[in-house]
Amino acid sequence: MGTIFHQPTPVEDDGQGFFSEIKGKFWRSLESHDRFIRSLGMATQLLRQPWIWPDRRLLRRMGTLERLGRWKIQEWKDDVSVRAARLDFFSAFRDLAGPRLKQIPDWSDRRRLNAILATFESHLGVPDPFCRPTRARLELTDACNLRCPMCPQGFWDWKRTYAEEWLLDRAAELYPWIYEIDLTSLGETMLSPHFNQCLERLEPHLQVQFITNGLLVNDKNALLLAKHITELHVSIDAAKTETYQKMREVESFPKVVENSKRIVRFKEELGRGLPYLVFNFTITQKNLEDLPDVIRLAADIGFDRVHANFLSVWVPSLNQDSVYWIRERACEVLDYCDGLAQELGVTFLHPPKPVPEHEEESDFHRFCAEAWEFIHLRAEDKITVCCVGAEEYHAPQGADWEAIWDGPAYQNFRKRVNLPDEQAPPLCRSCLFGRDVKPGHPRYHFHEQAVAEHIQAKVIDPFNP
Ligand code: SF4
Repeated sequence: MGTIFHQPTPVEDDGQGFFSEIKGKFWRSLESHDRFIRSLGMATQLLRQPWIWPDRRLLRRMGTLERLGRWKIQEWKDDVSVRAARLDFFSAFRDLAGPRLKQIPDWSDRRRLNAILATFESHLGVPDPFCRPTRARLELTDACNLRCPMCPQGFWDWKRTYAEEWLLDRAAELYPWIYEIDLTSLGETMLSPHFNQCLERLEPHLQVQFITNGLLVNDKNALLLAKHITELHVSIDAAKTETYQKMREVESFPKVVENSKRIVRFKEELGRGLPYLVFNFTITQKNLEDLPDVIRLAADIGFDRVHANFLSVWVPSLNQDSVYWIRERACEVLDYCDGLAQELGVTFLHPPKPVPEHEEESDFHRFCAEAWEFIHLRAEDKITVCCVGAEEYHAPQGADWEAIWDGPAYQNFRKRVNLPDEQAPPLCRSCLFGRDVKPGHPRYHFHEQAVAEHIQAKVIDPFNP
């Protein structure tokens, strides 16, 4: 979940007139919070004069307007007067730019304007945004060749589905709008008979992410990955056969290493410099001590990054695998791995260390923009609002994704996603993306109650919620 690629729209040369002021000295002056409010107020008044904003000027200035709108948005988020001025500015921008969005002829301009609208409209919390998604996930199958105990594949049963070709048509309708597509599925995407076709139909402007268990990477698939993917994650979770067996219940560790080397070989042969290669590592009590050797392995075979996350306990049977119970040792290992990764030139990403002070924290509020920025096309005739599927809508063949995006169920979800505590949908209440919970707190690790409540929920008719 969340974005890996999207950056704020670059700021253009500010040119002449009013905006010539918005250069070096001007931006520095915005360090003053009163000055910022005044400038934002002035820009808001200008945005409310549509006659001075022909499309060309709006498109030329949109990067500057975005920069102004996002100025110190995190740092000053609790300042009431800044917030009021900022929302007024966002609202004026939305009124000006929203109705024009679909008339912008150039798709690259339209995507940029859409991304700004998505940011501003999410902060406004409008249930009926003009914006379309800027990122998407496309699931080709929820079937998997493994049954890892820490994954729903291991602890839930359902009828596995393979997407039919029409889902690629639905995805293709989205592509002009979005910057990023994630081909990760609840299963192993490479099992899909449409995997090859899906990659061939991607548009060149798209950044493509994909998480695989790596066991189906033969020469043909390695070539496809080296050719089409921007960032490839291989879930490895172990540095030796015994640990891999405990984590994934198969003795395929040598195979995943061999296949990872194969990807590196094809990447080098193609000379594209991509995909950026990542080993994923879910930290549990079973594999914590393997983490240093996974970093050594990444350095040895040419992976760029190791990305570690703590196990999410979704069902009670996983409870004792959590490193929450051995937080001190987890901190020591992460400290050691930080130094090791630096020494070996591998990027090592992980959540903050699970220090005891986190337990004292009680304010978990954080803002989630997924319902304005993201859409998830599922293999099983469904559209969901985020990668964990906080709410799911029927979307059979022939259903229009845009009508669902604009429909009453999606609107209703947007009204609730950022509500406090019990008023938010069940998964949002304990979601690490939507809530500011840190790993020293049990809420970070244990989600059994929210998940149990969520799975009672029905798939919703998007037009009759
Ligand atoms: S807060 Fe809710 S909508 Fe946002 S990512 Fe989490 S579960 Fe999904």
